[in-house]
Amino acid sequence: MPARRKKTSHSDFRALTTDILRHADEGAIIGDYLRDIMSAIVESAACPQVRITVADLTRFYRFTRTNTIAGNFHFAPIPGFGDPSFLPPADGVSDVELLERLVHFGHLDGREDLFVPDTAAAQAIAMRDGAGERRDLRLPGGIGSLLILPIRYGAETLGILTLVADRAGFFDDNDADFYRNIAAVIGIARAHRQAKFHLRERIKELTCIYRITKLGSDLDRSLDGLLREAADIIPPAFLFPEAASCRILLDRRSYTSIRYNPSKHALPVELRINGRPRGLIEVSYSTDLPTLDKGPFLNEERSLLEAVAKELSVIIQRKEAEEEKSALQSQLLHADRLVTVGQLAAGMAHEINEPLGGILGFAQLIQKTPDLPEQVIRDLDKIVKAAIHTRDIIRKLMLFSRQMPPRKSPTDLNERVSSCLDLLEPRIRKGGVRVVTELTPDIPPIVADPAQIHQILVNLVVNAVQAMSPGGTLTIRSARDGERVSLAVEDTGCGMTAETKDRIFVPFFTTKDIGEGTGLGLSVVLGIVTAHGGDIKVESEPGRGSRFTVTLPIAAPEKGEDHD
Ligand code: ADP
Repeated sequence: MPARRKKTSHSDFRALTTDILRHADEGAIIGDYLRDIMSAIVESAACPQVRITVADLTRFYRFTRTNTIAGNFHFAPIPGFGDPSFLPPADGVSDVELLERLVHFGHLDGREDLFVPDTAAAQAIAMRDGAGERRDLRLPGGIGSLLILPIRYGAETLGILTLVADRAGFFDDNDADFYRNIAAVIGIARAHRQAKFHLRERIKELTCIYRITKLGSDLDRSLDGLLREAADIIPPAFLFPEAASCRILLDRRSYTSIRYNPSKHALPVELRINGRPRGLIEVSYSTDLPTLDKGPFLNEERSLLEAVAKELSVIIQRKEAEEEKSALQSQLLHADRLVTVGQLAAGMAHEINEPLGGILGFAQLIQKTPDLPEQVIRDLDKIVKAAIHTRDIIRKLMLFSRQMPPRKSPTDLNERVSSCLDLLEPRIRKGGVRVVTELTPDIPPIVADPAQIHQILVNLVVNAVQAMSPGGTLTIRSARDGERVSLAVEDTGCGMTAETKDRIFVPFFTTKDIGEGTGLGLSVVLGIVTAHGGDIKVESEPGRGSRFTVTLPIAAPEKGEDHD
């Protein structure tokens, strides 16, 4: 094959630089870009081999274009190229790669690039090793003519352009200058491409943060919906969006992006809310990707994920505060309704109590009359029984509406639990219920009405046993929390729907059959708890069970707080 003519004229320079800059702007990936410009260089230099060494992200790659008829192009990572400590080889003979490293890291003594017109006739090359010592290197034989030029932008070296010719004297001074200028143009093109790349990445990141912030300002969106959407917003901000997927964990809930692939290549960032770790945000890559700062991830991507975690934490905090506020509002409304019902019950109890006393008293008086006919005795008995039943209901209504002041004395909570369990033992056994008690031993006596505390326990335990038919586990816990004590009664029974849970403290609300329940048990519990300055919390899930937690102050409540 006749040797092609080198193209190093002024117009050749213009044509080549236009090619290099035009391709740089096309936005192709680096391999395609370098293949195109190296083909143009090989065409212009007419030499057998052109190499460009560049750092892409964090690794060094060598792209090689050989001048064969088929036109051969390949690239490979060069491990160790970035290691700046230089030791000359033991035999003092260098190879092209070492020379490229010396040029890249500025370790040649007294020059910035290497132009060797004839490698066989070349003088020794002076270098400074890692310790700054001057050493002489001999060139490898059998090359011909060699040009190793730094690709620079400003003071920064971005890579190396190497031209290798197999004939001595192939390159002359004119060629060396020509390709020095070409290396400078490649430097500008590369810096331009890098700036564009960074800009594109930053835009992706900012778009991500913007969309997350916008999500947070959407007041109608629930926290669940918001986190699910956030999981979809995050992957496009990453360097390899097609392979990226995201998972957000909050407490025990998990939200994933549409195509979620857990993988060993994951970048997790902790999600802290109010300073407390509550979960994480994690981006995973489904395929093997080049190694960057943090596995296949960039430092910028970690910072982005941290910024997203901070933003989400603020949003979650606000959403939870809003949800808590609306729950409190509905609780207040509920409490308000109960106060009204309580007033009504109190009024009714008062009005009915007196005539009822008369009915019962006179009926009992008539019972004492001698020689009453059988039928009258039976009727009177019915009147007395009905009046006693009504009196019992009225007593409960009075407890609920706090018309029956507690008679307070030091009360041992754990002892109340034991005595209640003793009393209800036959019923518990019949119901197939296993009892677990977790009583904190050193609870101080509380100032309370022991009979009323007993009543609380009986009502809660009876409800729990009824809810667990045909059996289950009843757990009773007592604990101290500062100046208060708590008593939890937990069952593994039928649980309650949200609608039922909303109404359980309303007098006469019951879901049980006639004769099974009057709907006054929990009203009584609430009345007693409130009269003692305490509160009651209910947690329940249909099919799983319920937990009632009563909290009471150890000391008697202050006057004014005490509703006696
Ligand atoms: P009653 O037990 O007489 O129905 P309560 O006021 O004690 O009256 O309870 C009201 C309602 O609350 C019950 O009918 C039942 O629907 C519900 N409930 C109370 N305790 C439990 C529990 N442990 N598990 C499931 N539901 C319960």
